[in-house]
Amino acid sequence: MPGEIFVVTAPSGTGKTTLLKALLAADPGLRFSISYTTRQPRPGEVPGRDYFFVSPAEFAQLRDGGLLAEWVEQFGYGYGTSKEWIVQALASGQDLVFDLDTRGARALKESFPQATLIFILPPNLGELERRLQNRGALSPGELARRLEQGRAELQEIPGYDFLVVNADIALALGQLQAIVTASRCRAAHAWPPLEPLFRS
Ligand code: 5GP
Repeated sequence: MPGEIFVVTAPSGTGKTTLLKALLAADPGLRFSISYTTRQPRPGEVPGRDYFFVSPAEFAQLRDGGLLAEWVEQFGYGYGTSKEWIVQALASGQDLVFDLDTRGARALKESFPQATLIFILPPNLGELERRLQNRGALSPGELARRLEQGRAELQEIPGYDFLVVNADIALALGQLQAIVTASRCRAAHAWPPLEPLFRS
């Protein structure tokens, strides 16, 4: 049975990374799709766990070789998802979690219409700004770019299946887990492997 696809989008500074780590740690049936990026690792980020950090030349080679299922250029960096990894992971029946911007989410939904799109929001715009500033490693220009991009991404919310407000991490995590559970219980997903057991 092919796995489920969960695409999570959130403006920078929403607390998405913390939430996703907690979601994945609590559910061994979920596997995180590790993207390629040309940006530098942030403190605490581990190559091969958080991202595959590659040079612009390596990224161009992957992109031009048709090895990326989707890719974007944002904040001056390249971000992209490996096509081969998706195909292999889906065939092995695992449920996959993608951390993508709105353009990546849209592109993946086109290739995999069964994908569940989840948008994570901060409680309000002021809180988003405060969390981004506390991140520390961003230059004033990058901070402004990320805030602007965050505002633009909110316009895409109507195309998403679920919305989670991250005001309280335990509550938001519970909502994410509920979405994963509900998606796995969809008849279109759950019935095919069960159907043979009910043949008379
Ligand atoms: P960050 O630099 O903060 O890790 O990520 C910046 C943005 O890039 C986030 O919105 C994140 O969701 C998005 N992103 C990360 N990997 C990918 C990817 O492979 N494809 C796309 N489209 N967006 C990505």
